[in-house]
Amino acid sequence: MQRRIFIKNASLASGLLLISPLMADCSPRNEEFPVMDLHVHTTNDFTIENILEIGKREHIRFGVLDHPADWAIKDDADLKSYIDRLRPYPVYIGLQPMSPGWTKRFSPELISKVDYVLMDPQTIPNGNRYGETLHIWEFDTYIDDPEDFMERYMAHIMEVLNNNEPMHIFGWPLFLPVCIARDYYALWTENRMQQIITAAKKKNVAIEINDLAHTPHEKFILMSKEQGLKFTFGSDTRNQKAGRLAYCKSIAKKCNLKPEDFFIPQRTIKGGIS
Ligand SMILES: [Zn+2]
Repeated sequence: MQRRIFIKNASLASGLLLISPLMADCSPRNEEFPVMDLHVHTTNDFTIENILEIGKREHIRFGVLDHPADWAIKDDADLKSYIDRLRPYPVYIGLQPMSPGWTKRFSPELISKVDYVLMDPQTIPNGNRYGETLHIWEFDTYIDDPEDFMERYMAHIMEVLNNNEPMHIFGWPLFLPVCIARDYYALWTENRMQQIITAAKKKNVAIEINDLAHTPHEKFILMSKEQGLKFTFGSDTRNQKAGRLAYCKSIAKKCNLKPEDFFIPQRTIKGGIS
């Protein structure tokens, strides 16, 4: 349950530190590119019905995620009931693993039944010189040395991108822990960004534009686009904020993204958004 609780802190922190001036276009309809939010979660208080209500009202297609973990989807039986529970609804069904090696929990046949896998690099084993596993969305993430952290973070990102497990979307790209977030533009050197883009391209994964974190920034999106990568919008919400996507829409407009620049899961879904 930790992640579900701490995410509240992360959203609070993001709000404090990364308030963006790019809020001009908040209109729900956008004819220039398909507006989908492929990163929402359900909770006991925010159900699939609530998500569909927003989808209908705002004309947005949603993709629902849950985590392979002991406290969420722990085995084939859980995965099957997760898929069966969502299948009747007009939403994409995804998984959000947090650590490499996650496929060991499930049979490949069952994994192939989900529409997509979004993986992020936010859980970093041995993430600082104290040997701690960092959950970098947590407000109190401890970084002793920013450059040393960046080396460990980059190594972890490469491990996430360079493995053979299924993955379609790279989530939370370039997000930094709160204590070093103010140094974002200095820490994300061109060289580091290029390493990520090269690995993402090799694995053929799309880049999530994350509405909660306001990452990645314009330059990274333009570099990725130039090299043929696709994008998705993700709010990482589990409440009424689902589908707002103000940052996603405004940065996509600024970067002149077109329908063909977006990754859309293969399954055809009808209804639910009008
Ligand atoms: Zn998530």
